[in-house]
Amino acid sequence: MPQLHAHLVPIFDEIVTRNAGEPEFHQAAHEVLESLGPVVEKHSEYVDAQVIRRLCEPERQIIFRVPWVDDAGRAQVNRGFRVEFNSALGPYKGGLRFHPSVNLGIVKFLGFEQIFKNSLTGLPIGGGKGGSDFDPKGKSDAEIMRFCQSFMTELYRHIGEYTDVPAGDIGVGGREIGYMFGQYKRITNRYESGVLTGKGISWGGSLVRTESTGYGAVFFAQEILGTSGDSLEGKRVIVSGSGNVATYATQKVHQLGGTVVAISDSSGYVVDEKGIDLDLLKDVKEVRRARISEYADARQGASFVAGGSIWDVPADVAIPSATQNELDEAAAIQLVKNGVKVISEGANMPDTPEAIRVFREAGVKFAPGKAANAGGVATSALEMQQNASRDSWSFEYTEERLHRIMKSIHDRSLETADQYGAPGDYVVGANIAGFTKVADAMLAQGVI
Ligand code: GLU
Repeated sequence: MPQLHAHLVPIFDEIVTRNAGEPEFHQAAHEVLESLGPVVEKHSEYVDAQVIRRLCEPERQIIFRVPWVDDAGRAQVNRGFRVEFNSALGPYKGGLRFHPSVNLGIVKFLGFEQIFKNSLTGLPIGGGKGGSDFDPKGKSDAEIMRFCQSFMTELYRHIGEYTDVPAGDIGVGGREIGYMFGQYKRITNRYESGVLTGKGISWGGSLVRTESTGYGAVFFAQEILGTSGDSLEGKRVIVSGSGNVATYATQKVHQLGGTVVAISDSSGYVVDEKGIDLDLLKDVKEVRRARISEYADARQGASFVAGGSIWDVPADVAIPSATQNELDEAAAIQLVKNGVKVISEGANMPDTPEAIRVFREAGVKFAPGKAANAGGVATSALEMQQNASRDSWSFEYTEERLHRIMKSIHDRSLETADQYGAPGDYVVGANIAGFTKVADAMLAQGVI
């Protein structure tokens, strides 16, 4: 790992000892601290007020029991989390993840990333994250509803339009947001539209919110290619995952003239040289909630590779959109060997630090998730705007706003990287640009 600035070494050591057994949080914190050396050199005011040390400690961490009854009448217990990390720029904002791997460290890494991502959007939202170790796989609709109701029966007291605004993440989509919103409304007797985002279109949701994370990651890749006069037209693209982010990244790549030739899920990957058929993908993953192998079964010319690494498939652009640390050093070496030019992270922290080093050394343009996948939360903030003004915008207008936000995150990341002596480095640029806005707000608001 690269050296940390001397001021940051004890801060990182403190993070490790204070948050024992949370490697993903350490990884996310280290990646940001690595970029902040030149900031510490330039801004003694941040050092004097211990801004970085304060920023690395969540403002509030909530852990709660989620009891529910399964279809067989048996009582089940899961653990729920909400980490309210930083509210310098606005109410805590970030998704809820339902997945068996969820624990406090995972939620903290995601909440920490969210602070900088949300800051980069330029919109007034702080950073938070939550979720549960509940596994939605194989659960009936009625079980999902009872779980969501129980989860909200505790969470409702901690959230609110001006306090903390959750949304979806892995395992939490429109259905789950609906059940949680219904329960919040019932408990509080308030139709508080702005308390959750990712709502259905007819009851306070925003057009483009479903598509926005995937679209945004593709807009970002297009901006990167544009810096050398290139575009997605005619490019081979691989997109890992097959959830919401991957699905709409695929759609936008196709609209911009590229071809997504491979997608994946936890069971393996599919190669389809003609380009992934979006209707079939949605039918398999959203309607049937089935394995990706069923896509290959139904599509002539497509093949399924059980297990295996999607990163073996040659491509110009890769959009990792599954989960954290899915792309390691060996995968990065393979991608570089196959001539990859751009990586745009659709998921949160999908590349390991070693993989990022490989890309850097090979001169591959690398866009970190906190910049490239910020389109989702940015559109959530647009949903909050529509809720606050009791309005609903057209698809075209909302997509245009999203597009402008992604372009501005791209440009600001590049300008900041330049300013701090790391031209072309989107990691350094995004970390510093995201950080300084939050740090300045924290300074202005005093030691709180
Ligand atoms: N879970 C998404 C993210 O990682 C979206 C969060 C939101 O819309 O609040 O940014």
